[in-house]
Amino acid sequence: MIQPNKSLQAYNTFGVASTAEFFVEIFDRVELAAFFKAHTTEQITVLGGGSNILLTQNLSGIVLKISLTGIEVVEESPQEVILEVQAGESWHDVVSYCLDQDYGGIENLALIPGQMGTAPMQNIGAYGVELKDVFDSCVAMNRETQEFEYFDREACAFGYRESVFKQKLKNKYVICSVRLRLTKTNHRLTLDYGSIKDVLSQSGIDNPSIRDVAAAVISIRQSKLPDPKILGNSGSFFKNPIIAKKTADQLKVNYPQLPTYDTGDGQQKIPAAWLIETAGYKGFRQGDAGVHKHQALVLVNYGQATGAEIWRLAQSIQDKVEKEFGIRLMPEVNIY
Ligand code: FAD
Ligand code: NAP
Repeated sequence: MIQPNKSLQAYNTFGVASTAEFFVEIFDRVELAAFFKAHTTEQITVLGGGSNILLTQNLSGIVLKISLTGIEVVEESPQEVILEVQAGESWHDVVSYCLDQDYGGIENLALIPGQMGTAPMQNIGAYGVELKDVFDSCVAMNRETQEFEYFDREACAFGYRESVFKQKLKNKYVICSVRLRLTKTNHRLTLDYGSIKDVLSQSGIDNPSIRDVAAAVISIRQSKLPDPKILGNSGSFFKNPIIAKKTADQLKVNYPQLPTYDTGDGQQKIPAAWLIETAGYKGFRQGDAGVHKHQALVLVNYGQATGAEIWRLAQSIQDKVEKEFGIRLMPEVNIY
C-alpha cells in the first residue's frame, strides 16, 4: 500500500524530521520487480534501516522500504556453511543467529545497525573484519530491467567502506539477498584489533569462543558509541582518509602524534576522529547538532536538529580540517 506524506523521523537513526511524498514497504522480490516496472518515471529512494543516511530535506517521489525476510542454509560441509539472507533482515539479528548456530566469521561485526541488503553497499567493517571476508555472493535487481543479477565478490569491487554499488552502479540496483560463507569448525578469530584482547583478558578468558568475541565487541561499542535510540546519530559521519605515505610524513613534522595505519599499498589511513578532535570539534555543539563527546567521528542530534543543520556542521568540520591539515574529509553517510 502506498502511503502519502509519510514521516521518516522513525526511519532514520539521526531521528531528523523529514517527509516522504510517498512511502511503500516491499516484502518480496516479485512485488519489488512489479513495483519498479509500474513506476518507471517516478524518483524512487531505497531505504534499509536508515542508519547510514542524513535527510537534509523532504524526499520527493517514492521511498521504498526494503522488508524482504528469511535466513536459509543453502550449502553445507562439515567445515563450512553458506547462509542466504534476505535484504530486509536486521544485520545484528543475523550475527545473533550465527552465534546461536556457532557459525563463525561475523562476530566482530556485532551490533552494527542496519539491514543485510545494505551491508555490501559500503562493505561494512569493524574491529579488523569486513563483510568481504565472509561474502560469497549477492543477488541484486537491476532497477531498469527488473532482472535479478548475480554478483560474486570480485564483481562487487569491495574496498575500504566501498563497493561497486556505491560507485559505478550507484542507484542502479536493489540488493535482494546476500550469501555468507561461514565456518562451522576451526573458527578464525580476529583479536588483534583495538581493545578486544584486553576486554577478554579482563574477563579471564584466554581461549575465547565466537560468542566471547562478540560479547567483547558489544561491550566496547556500548562504552564508546551513542545508542541511536537515545541519541540520534548515523555512526561514523566521515570516512577515514587514506593518503600517500609522503603526505603523512610531511604532516607528522607539525603533528608528531598523528596516528597512521599502513594500508599495505604504500598509503596510510588516518583516523578522521583524530583530525576532528585536533581541529577542536570533539564535544562541540551548535543548537541541537553536535559532535559526540567521546567519539569525534560521530555527529549527533541532541533532539530537534534538522538534517540541514547537521549537514552545515559537517561542512564546517570539513572546511576546518582541510584548512588545518590539507585533507578534505568525505562523508561516509549518504546525504539526501
Ligand atoms: P540505510 O541507511 O537505510 O541506507 C544506506 C544507503 O544504502 C542508502 O543510500 C540506501 O538507498 C542504500 N540501500 C539500502 N538498502 C539497499 C538495498 N537493499 N539495495 C540497494 N541499496 C540499498 N558501519 C560500518 O561499516 N561499521 C560499523 O561499525 C558501523 N557502526 C555503526 C554504529 C552506529 C551507532 C550507527 C548508527 C551506524 C553504524 N554504521 C557502521 C553505519 C551503518 O550501520 C551501516 O552502513 C549499515 O550497513 C547501514 O544499513 P542501513 O540498512 O541502515 O542503510
Ligand atoms: P578505534 O578503535 O578508536 O580506532 C580509531 C580508528 O583507527 C578507527 O577508525 C580504525 O580504523 C583505526 N584503527 C584502530 N586500530 C587499527 C588497526 N589495528 N589497524 C587499522 N586501523 C586501526 O575506533 P572506534 O571508533 O572505537 O570504532 C571501532 C571499530 O568500529 C572500527 O573498526 C570502526 O570502523 C567501527 N565503527 C564504524 C562505524 C561506522 O559508522 N562506519 C561506527 C562505529 C564504529 P577502521 O575504521 O578502519 O577500523
